[in-house]
Amino acid sequence: EAKRAGRQQYRFFSAEMNSRAHARLILEENLRSATDRGDFRLVYQPQVYLGNGALRGFEALLRWDRKGEEIMPCDFIPLLEETRLINRVGQWVLSEGIATCRDWHSIFGDELIFSLNVSPVQFASEGLLDSLGRLLDLHGLKPAQLELEVTEGTLMQDLKHSCSKLDSLRRLGVKVAIDDFGTGYSSLAYLRHFEIDTLKIDRLFITNMLDSPRDAAVVSTIIELGRNLGLEVIAEGVETLGQRNWLIEHGCQIMQGFLVSPSLDAEQACAFPKQVDWQRLGQT
Ligand code: C2E
Ligand code: MG
Ligand code: MG
Ligand code: MG
Repeated sequence: EAKRAGRQQYRFFSAEMNSRAHARLILEENLRSATDRGDFRLVYQPQVYLGNGALRGFEALLRWDRKGEEIMPCDFIPLLEETRLINRVGQWVLSEGIATCRDWHSIFGDELIFSLNVSPVQFASEGLLDSLGRLLDLHGLKPAQLELEVTEGTLMQDLKHSCSKLDSLRRLGVKVAIDDFGTGYSSLAYLRHFEIDTLKIDRLFITNMLDSPRDAAVVSTIIELGRNLGLEVIAEGVETLGQRNWLIEHGCQIMQGFLVSPSLDAEQACAFPKQVDWQRLGQT
């Protein structure tokens, strides 16, 4: 009896496995042709100084238009990583991001910062520095306008390599931010050695900080840490004025989140005000 059940379970399991593998194969095939056709686009989410509401810059976020349907990064980035297609797509993100930032000089000037997400595979790749240098030259963009976002996991995968990569990026003049800070297994000891510019506090902590003293403690500690290390600190995922006020009280400089704006297409982003009016925001 048990044997038969076991066999049945096995058969069921393997059928499910097959269909999952099949779905994955189709997704991979779709991704491959999307990469060839260029069905990707960037959307832009503003980053704003908490004090005076001035626009700091935009984070570029990747979208995939699959037959008119918008697919979010969490549904395809992992597979891009696994299949290493991320190299090609990541290269496109750099090139599109840098070109767009240069295009926007006439609107936002040449102090605007563009943050681009860089995957672990891309960060580790040999060609990253050369291709960045080439693209900055080609489009005539000041390196300081560019900020690369990497996660703690990306930096911790090979410490020696990370330190020397970060040094080279520093020499090139490009900024580096640690994304989703606080969720990885970062070691404060190594943070001292990393040549970075910015910490981005993960949305998880921001979402809960007004209700959870522990999350509040994490946020205020990261703000303090950033200040002591001379880094900029960005709060991610700020959705309410209450959160914004708390962050100001605790000395955070920059925010990003739905309170100010969701990610925008290029046209909407170009129309984004150079300074957010907090008073007006409070009334709506
Ligand atoms: P991330 O870099 O931490 O990006 C922030 C994510 O939080 C974005 O989701 C953004 O839309 C969302 N978000 C921002 N403000 C709020 C808010 O106030 N409330 C809520 N609920 N969410 C908010 P998105 O666009 O789905 O991106 C998810 C992740 O995908 C990114 O996390 C990043 O890790 C990855 N990703 C996006 N674009 C790229 C890319 O071009 N290359 C690579 N390698 N990864 C990317
Ligand atoms: Mg990011
Ligand atoms: Mg983030
Ligand atoms: Mg995040």
